[in-house]
Amino acid sequence: MRLLVTGGAGFIGSHYVRQALSGAYPSLADAEVVVLDKLTYAGNRENLAPVADSPRLHFVEGDICDAETVVAAMAGTDLVVHFAAESHVDRSIAGSSEFVRTNVLGTQTLLQAALEAQVGKFVHVSTDEVYGSIESGSWPETHPLEPNSPYSASKASSDLLARSYFRTHGLPVCVTRCSNNYGPYQFPEKVIPLFTTNLMDGTKVPLYGDGLNVRDWLHVDDHCHGIQLVADGGRPGEIYNIGGGTELTNRELTTLLLEATGTDETFVQPVIDRKAHDRRYSVDITKISTELGYEPRVPFAKGLADTVKWYADNRAWWEPLKARSA
Ligand code: NAD
Repeated sequence: MRLLVTGGAGFIGSHYVRQALSGAYPSLADAEVVVLDKLTYAGNRENLAPVADSPRLHFVEGDICDAETVVAAMAGTDLVVHFAAESHVDRSIAGSSEFVRTNVLGTQTLLQAALEAQVGKFVHVSTDEVYGSIESGSWPETHPLEPNSPYSASKASSDLLARSYFRTHGLPVCVTRCSNNYGPYQFPEKVIPLFTTNLMDGTKVPLYGDGLNVRDWLHVDDHCHGIQLVADGGRPGEIYNIGGGTELTNRELTTLLLEATGTDETFVQPVIDRKAHDRRYSVDITKISTELGYEPRVPFAKGLADTVKWYADNRAWWEPLKARSA
């Protein structure tokens, strides 16, 4: 079994690789794991340090838009799990060309190479943001795509390319659409690690608008478990939502982080809302639950406490990243 993981040096991809190489996924117990990652600002070899000595890990530094690199990395691959992307909404508002290049062209380059290499399964990791924003209720996988940011539009485009390679060519593609992930090794630009590390440093946290935007929080370990269920048993051509089951306003989340870090309201700095800020995301996970037996296993309170502790214990990991992006 040979597995190709794109973006395996990023937050979610590295969790998946660490789990795969630590025996968490029985079907991958003997798999050779090839990580293809460009090591952008969000990619970090340190994220793979716990498994760096594994003889089953093969790291390729390269760009998913580079067909020659992708074809070489794809040779002999049975399973592709495609995480690599530009992933931060705010950066896509500041400039979207890299999002279109990596998320759209990069995904097409991978799909084409996977088709030519006749891979057995291609899991495309997408996002619930492709659905847009929902005031009440939850999206089923059949909901139309109405992305609002350049990031989510580029992800929706790659979703549709993935679908087309199944419909047109019969490539066995599954698409997963997950909610907001949190956990260790998340780059400190996303809200939980940004707020946690700011508060640990005695710096204020920027809370967008009225703070009432709602997100569903999914522990990265639950997300990766869901992805593996799809890799093992997902039906080709199908889409599977993956959610965490804990909806919070950003204001509620901020209060929890103030409590967890022993700080208070004086550390909250309201800032002008993000452009086109989606009000609420909520995925219906009935399909993956009934077909594949998925359920989130990490209680949010424990997941958040463990995550805050990880950032407290791992300053050496995040301080240089924050210094570089300041
Ligand atoms: P991340 O930004 O932490 O990591 C992205 C990784 O992709 C990095 O290692 C980076 O170096 C690599 N990469 C970027 N461009 C590349 C290129 N051109 N070629 C090769 N590698 C490249 O992202 P993440 O949070 O781990 O997200 C992983 C996937 O999950 C993404 O597809 C993202 O859209 C999706 N997703 C994330 C979340 C979340 O909450 N983090 C939620 C929904 C969906």
